[in-house]
This record gives sequence, structure tokens and C-alpha cells, in this order.
Amino acid sequence: MRLRALAKINLGLDILGKRDDGYHEVRMIMQTIQMYDVLEIQRSKTPGISLVTNLPFIPSDERNLVYKAAKLLMDEFHVEEGISMKLDKSIPVAAGMAGGSSDAAAAFVGVNRLFNLGLSEQELMKRAVKVGADVPYCIMRGTALAEGIGEKLTWIPQVPKCYVLVGKPGVTVSTKMAYENLHLDEIKERPDIDGMIRDITKGDLHAMVSKMGNVFEPGIIGRYPVIQEIKDLMEENGALKAMMSGSGPTVFGIFDDSDKMEKAAAILRESRLAKTVFATETYNRGGGFANDK
Ligand code: ATP
Repeated sequence: MRLRALAKINLGLDILGKRDDGYHEVRMIMQTIQMYDVLEIQRSKTPGISLVTNLPFIPSDERNLVYKAAKLLMDEFHVEEGISMKLDKSIPVAAGMAGGSSDAAAAFVGVNRLFNLGLSEQELMKRAVKVGADVPYCIMRGTALAEGIGEKLTWIPQVPKCYVLVGKPGVTVSTKMAYENLHLDEIKERPDIDGMIRDITKGDLHAMVSKMGNVFEPGIIGRYPVIQEIKDLMEENGALKAMMSGSGPTVFGIFDDSDKMEKAAAILRESRLAKTVFATETYNRGGGFANDK
């Protein structure tokens, strides 16, 4: 079985406060894009889970989210057979694009299918939050409002068709560092999440982009000005809006025209500001994982 694990961007990211348990209360508009890792999964005669990946610097044992997801389901359903998995990553790691979470989502869907466990999407999503707050969304895909710690999801109409240019600079930002650089009482600009939902519902892309925002941006850009440089380059070259995704450092630009995006991609590559440059588009929920075989 070969499954695609799609990346996400945050069209809007707001943090409302810190809960007593240490987690932050978020309000985000999530959007799946057509950039993906590939997870191959098959039964094996040897019991247990084996995993290989194309990246030597990420773990391939129980610390990998794919492994955690598969183990969680296999333990619950007392699966005695083994599985072997191969993960081919293209989504930048620790980049604010939910790469690991989406890989875990693919593992949930894959194990459910491979062993005919019969779990519905909702039932998978309920278990998925144990592996990570973004994993239920990565199972659901499409455009969604995420609240709570990111696990309370409300479907919203699909964002109007647009093109997305991804640029990841060669710096690494952990989610922990992003929170350390965020001072809740000093947030000056917040995205207008409710306004964005209204614009999306009306199909008004131009109005929506004017309300986008990510409260992590000032703290992270203060440390890594290259993020601002990539944003400026995209906006000077036709992006309706360019913004950092999640806790960064990846920047994405929203375009209403694919030729304009391709030109901006070429200029961004030339500039060498970004280590990864990828031109793509949004992904419509249609069918979820159903098209992957
Ligand atoms: P998010 O947008 O959810 O914050 P992220 O892009 O910051 O995600 P990931 O790429 O998902 O972060 O992974 C971050 C860390 O998790 C890495 O340091 C890596 O070692 C570990 N990890 C575990 N499993 C995976 C996986 N399948 N793919 C990538 N990283 C993984």
C-alpha cells in the first residue's frame, strides 16, 4: 500500500493563551497543500514494526511518529502479524508543515486498511490525537478551523483555488523555541480568523489574504531575518500575501496565477535565500485518502 502524507500550511495562526496543563489554546485555519511524503506499508512475516526512511537524521525507531501511530493501533487490536514500512520524505523536517504528523496520519489510515480494522475516519481521529495535536487534522485534510490544542476541528468550505509557493530557509526552529519567543501579553497583530472564514465562505481570496497573520512571526523573524527577506521577495514578485507557516521557518506565498508563481519560484531559487523551493497548489479534501492505493 502506498499512501501520500500531505503537508499543511496555516493560513491564520492565533494563540489565545496558556492552559493550566501547559498546552496553548490555539485558533488556526489549516490548509492542506499538494506537497507530500510517501509511506509504503506492507504485511511482513516477522512480527513487530520495521521502518526505513530516506533521511539519516530522523529516527526510524519508536521515536518516529509513523512508528508510534502504527504501534498504537496494532497494540489496541492485538495484531500479531508484523509490518514493514518505507517512508520517503519530501516535506521539510521541523519546518512548520506538519510533516511528521501527516506521516503518522498515513500510518493510521494504512494500518486500519491493511488489517481491516474497520475504524471510521472519526474513530481514527480520536486515537490520532494521542500521537500529536495536528494528526487528526492530517487525517481529515482540506480547509479547517483548528481550536483547543489543534485537535478540535471544524470543517469550513474549501479555500478559493490558489497557488502556493513554499520557501524554507536553511535554519531550524523547534516548536519549543517558537513558544519561548512568543510573549502573549505583547501580541500586537492577530489574524482575523472569523473574518477569514467569512471571506472563504464567500469565495473571496483577495479579502481573505488581507486578514491573514501568524502570531509567531515577529519573535522568529527577530532571530532569523532571512524569513522576512523571503516574504518580501515573494510579495515583490506577485504573491498576494507571504507568511510564515506554523512555528516556522517555512514561508509560503499565495498566488492567484500559476505563471506568476513559477516566475517568483525561479527568482527565489536564484536568490539562494531558501534551501527548499517548491511550487504547488492547495489540495481539496475530495475523497481524503480514498485515492491512495
Ligand atoms: P509541525 O508543523 O507539526 O510543528 P514540524 O514541521 O515542526 O511539524 P516535523 O517535521 O513533523 O516538525 O518533525 C519534527 C521532529 O520530529 C524532528 O526533529 C524529528 O526528529 C521528529 N520526527 C519524528 N517522526 C518524524 C517523521 N515521520 N518525520 C519527520 N520528523 C519526525
